Amino acid sequence: MSDGAGCVPGAPGEGDRQTVVVIGGGFTGAVVAHQLARRAPARFRIVVVEPRSALGGGVAYSTADPAHRINVPASRMSFVPSDPCHFERWLKADGALVEDPEAVTPDGRAFPRRQVFGRYAAETMEPYLLAGAIEHRRDRAVSVDRSADGGCVVHLAGGEAVAASFVVLAATHPAPAAPAAFDAVLGDPRLIPDPRTAPRSTPSRLTRAF
Ligand SMILES: Cc1cc2nc3c(=O)[nH]c(=O)nc-3n(C[C@H](O)[C@H](O)[C@H](O)COP(=O)(O)OP(=O)(O)OC[C@H]3O[C@@H](n4cnc5c(N)ncnc54)[C@H](O)[C@@H]3O)c2cc1C
Repeated sequence: MSDGAGCVPGAPGEGDRQTVVVIGGGFTGAVVAHQLARRAPARFRIVVVEPRSALGGGVAYSTADPAHRINVPASRMSFVPSDPCHFERWLKADGALVEDPEAVTPDGRAFPRRQVFGRYAAETMEPYLLAGAIEHRRDRAVSVDRSADGGCVVHLAGGEAVAASFVVLAATHPAPAAPAAFDAVLGDPRLIPDPRTAPRSTPSRLTRAF
């Protein structure tokens, strides 16, 4: 996929609005869309391309496993940067901690389940989706081209092409990689830069190796 650089502001839009296409509706893409919709209402047509059913959950917060918890206290995990207590207030109103007392540590910090944060993110996005301020395309972007009129066109796997003045790439962070200091031992089976690609037998091999 190209990086979309060079899209011209003022190209495709609806009426006076410029179109922003956000590729990826995990936490990052959803927050970008949410901020645009809040801070510049009616200025942009905002389209989020995300194959998952809900926006805001992404890889980290779409898990259904109750053992998966956020690893940063709730007090530091707001969806709204200008409102640091936004998630904590939502938690209280929702009551998610009442049925999950283990979420609160003895010093009072809350580490709710990651699926709870995903639900919070989706619920925060919902009014904007219902109002049409943000559009969710349940699809996958496959390429971005320059259009003849100077804007961009985002092509989706389902065949749709969305014209854009701006394209935001929010389709996750790069895969883990070993720091440069490990260059000399790259390729050694005992070095596992990306645990997701580790062989299943890794723990016992590691035990023997070290
Ligand atoms: C397991 C795990 C737990 C974490 N826990 C925490 C935590 O507790 N606290 C914290 O602060 N941070 C946590 N993080 C860090 C977390 O990654 C970031 O906070 C944030 O969720 C990253 O969101 P993202 O939107 O950048 O990426 P992602 O969540 O990866 O979202 C990217 C989205 O892009 C979509 N996508 C990919 N390709 C395309 C395409 N071609 N077209 C359209 N859509 C596409 C994917 O479906 C996905 O939903 C955790 C990360 C992981 C992996």
